[in-house]
Amino acid sequence: MIKLEHITKNFKNLKAVDDVSLEIKKGEIVCLIGPSGSGKSTVLRCINGLEVPESGDVYIYDQKLDLNGEDKGRQLRNKMGFVFQHFNLFPNMTVLENLTLAPIQVMKKSKSEAEEIACQYLKRVGLLDKKDEYPNKLSGGQKQRVAIARSLCMNPEIMLFDEPTSALDPEMVIEVLEVMQELAQEGMTMVVVTHEMGFARTVADRVIFLEDGKIIEENNAEDFFSQP
Ligand code: ADP
Ligand code: ADP
Repeated sequence: MIKLEHITKNFKNLKAVDDVSLEIKKGEIVCLIGPSGSGKSTVLRCINGLEVPESGDVYIYDQKLDLNGEDKGRQLRNKMGFVFQHFNLFPNMTVLENLTLAPIQVMKKSKSEAEEIACQYLKRVGLLDKKDEYPNKLSGGQKQRVAIARSLCMNPEIMLFDEPTSALDPEMVIEVLEVMQELAQEGMTMVVVTHEMGFARTVADRVIFLEDGKIIEENNAEDFFSQP
């Protein structure tokens, strides 16, 4: 479903991603782990075109992600939801407006149709009662659940998570991980950059360890964590 072939991404003299190749199957949950600065986030951002690699190709469903070939690139990107560490909600819009914006503007849904979808996903993450609040009224954990619901409104086939719990107080981590675990159980294809080893161990099908922009180890979660 996702294939990276020999991806390299530099920032000036720094090789942030150095010849990374990987393949992710439909329904697979892959966790990217490794020290800070090892290139995890950049790999993730290359998958959906937030970063454009210097060399190498990204394929989504065997279609090359070509960001210059505008429309097709956009169609492929729309299949992917992206959840950021810092939520990236629009502060001047209510929760409901945050969720309906892309369905209305990108998917050309009517307002009522978009609101119906939005409420359905807000209910799923347990936040329907917050629909008319502004993001600054929510806790970090609630903001992140709203951000996940917002991605789901676009009906993605792949969800990418970039340290979704790293900015949260410990007591809020679990409520976000539970939502992610449910998604995994429902068969969503997911790539997750995380420091949550418990999540990686129990939810991931595969764990990929990066260091200095390179894949150092790749294994199923059980074998990965059972090594000395
Ligand atoms: P990780 O997610 O593993 O912490 P990143 O992919 O964020 O690592 O970063 C890899 C390296 O690339 C780091 O050294 C980081 O400082 C650098 N980097 C990431 N994004 C940029 C950018 N936009 N400009 C310059 N350097 C960057
Ligand atoms: P998030 O995890 O929410 O995506 P980050 O704090 O990791 O946000 O990164 C925010 C932005 O800063 C990204 O666009 C990333 O590429 C950029 N960035 C990261 N490291 C550096 C760096 N060393 N120099 C310049 N930009 C960077």
